[in-house]
Amino acid sequence: MSQPKIIIVGAGFGGLAAAKALKNTPAEVILIDRTNHHLFQPLLYQVATSVLTPSQIATPIRGIFRNQKNITVIMGEVTGANKDKKCVFVSDEDRQNVTLAYDYLILATGASHSYFGRDEFAEYAPGLKSLADAEAARNKILQAFELAEAEEDPTRHPELLTFVLVGAGPTGVEMAGALAILVRTTLKSDFRRINPSSTRIVLVDMAPRVLGPFSENLSKAARQRLDNLGVEVRLGHSVDRIDAEGVVIAGERIPSKTVIWTAGVAPSPAGKWLNVETDRAGRVRILSDLTVPGHPEICVVGDTASLDQNGKPLPGVAQVAMQQGRYAGKLVHSRVAGNSPPSPFSYFDKGSMAVVGKGFAVLQSGKVQMSGLPAWITWASVHLQFLATSSLRLTVLLQWIWTGVTGQRGDRLIVNHQRSEVANPAPSITVKSTSAGG
Ligand SMILES: Cc1cc2nc3c(=O)[nH]c(=O)nc-3n(C[C@H](O)[C@H](O)[C@H](O)COP(=O)(O)OP(=O)(O)OC[C@H]3O[C@@H](n4cnc5c(N)ncnc54)[C@H](O)[C@@H]3O)c2cc1C
Repeated sequence: MSQPKIIIVGAGFGGLAAAKALKNTPAEVILIDRTNHHLFQPLLYQVATSVLTPSQIATPIRGIFRNQKNITVIMGEVTGANKDKKCVFVSDEDRQNVTLAYDYLILATGASHSYFGRDEFAEYAPGLKSLADAEAARNKILQAFELAEAEEDPTRHPELLTFVLVGAGPTGVEMAGALAILVRTTLKSDFRRINPSSTRIVLVDMAPRVLGPFSENLSKAARQRLDNLGVEVRLGHSVDRIDAEGVVIAGERIPSKTVIWTAGVAPSPAGKWLNVETDRAGRVRILSDLTVPGHPEICVVGDTASLDQNGKPLPGVAQVAMQQGRYAGKLVHSRVAGNSPPSPFSYFDKGSMAVVGKGFAVLQSGKVQMSGLPAWITWASVHLQFLATSSLRLTVLLQWIWTGVTGQRGDRLIVNHQRSEVANPAPSITVKSTSAGG
C-alpha cells in the first residue's frame, strides 16, 4: 500500500517545526518553499545594518533535512489549492501550475508587507521581510553615505543622510537602534567630507508610543534609549505621503532619500486559495486543533492563521508559528499512525523582547519586565538558541563578540544585483576574420 502524502507549504518557523515533528511518520512528506532557505526573520535588521551576512541568518532547507529521509524538498511557488480535489498548484521557472495531490496539507506561508492600502508607498519605502529585502536595504543605506561623500555641495548632505523608518514596532525600533550604532561606531572614521554621526534617523508611527505590544514602562525605557542614541521619534501621526523626495508627516516634509517600511504585515493569500473564512486581516480562521472547519486534513499555522486564546488573537510571532507547526505535525502523525489526537492547541507565551542598540534590550515575560544589559544577554542567548544550525549559532556569536569589541561589522558591501558589466559595454573592437594561417 502506498504511503499517505503530506504537503507542507512554507519552510519558515511553522513549516520547519511541522516537518521536524513528522520525522518518524510513515508518510511521504513534501516540503515546498519559494526560496531554497529557511530564514531567521528576527535578525533581518542585522543584515540590513551590516552586522551579519545573509548566510548567517539563513540556512538551505535541503541541508536541514539531509538526514530526514521521508522528506522531499521542492523549491517552487504555490499559486493555489483545491481543497475538494485535495491538491495544490506549484510553479517554478520551468513549469507552471503543476498539480500536486495530498492526503494532508499544512499551510505555513507566513505574511508579507502591508502598506495599509497605500501600495504606492512600496516603490519608495521597501519593507523588510526577505533576505533580498535586507540586502536591498543594506545597499540603500550604505549607498546613501557614498552619495553624500561624493556630493561636493554640503546643502545636499542632509537629505542624503536622513533615514526615515516608518513603523515603531519591534522591527522599526531595532533597526533605528542598529543604524544609530552603525553611524556612531563603524562608519565614524571612514569618511572625509561627511560626518556620519550627523546622520538624522527618524522613526515614525501613528501610535502614541513605541513598541506598542510591550508594557508602558518598557516602552518608555525603549523611547529613552532611542533618545539617547539620537533617534528622532515622531509619534501620533500617520505618513501622508512617501515619494522620491522623502516623506510628509502631519503636513511637514522630511527630505530623505532612504525610507524603509517597518510597519504592517498582511497574511499570505492562503485564505483565498482555500476559499474559507478569514479574519479582518485576511488570516485563515482555524479551530483549536489548527484545522480548517470542515477539513480535518488541512492545518494552517503561523502568521497566516487566526486563532483566539483567552479571548485574544494569538500574535504573529515566531513562537506561535513554531508551537503551532509542531502541534500540526503531531496531529497529522497521530492521524497517519491511527493514534488518538493530541489535546487542543494551547500557546505557551515565553515572552517578548526587542533590542535597542548595542547591549540594551527590553524583555517582558509574564510578570517579569527587564531592560538594559541583562535583557540583552537574555535576548542574545534566546536568539542564538533558535537559529537553525549549530554552525550559525557559532558564527553569529563570534560576529557579535567581534562587532561588540571592535565596532567592525560583518558585511558592508554594496552589491547591485541588477547591474552587470554587460550593461555598459566597452567600445566594440571590430576583429577582421582571418583564415587560418592568413
Ligand atoms: C523583520 C522581522 C522581524 C521579526 N522579529 C521577530 C522577533 O524578534 N520575534 C518574533 O517572535 N517574531 C519576529 N518576527 C515575526 C516572525 O518572524 C514571524 O511571526 C514568523 O516568521 C512566522 O512564521 P511562519 O512560519 O508563519 O512564516 P514565515 O517564517 O514567514 O515562513 C513562511 C515561509 O513560506 C514561504 N512561502 C510563502 N508563500 C509561499 C508560496 N506561495 N509558495 C511557496 N512558499 C511560500 C516563504 O518563503 C517562507 O519561507 C519578525 C518578522 C520580521 C519580518
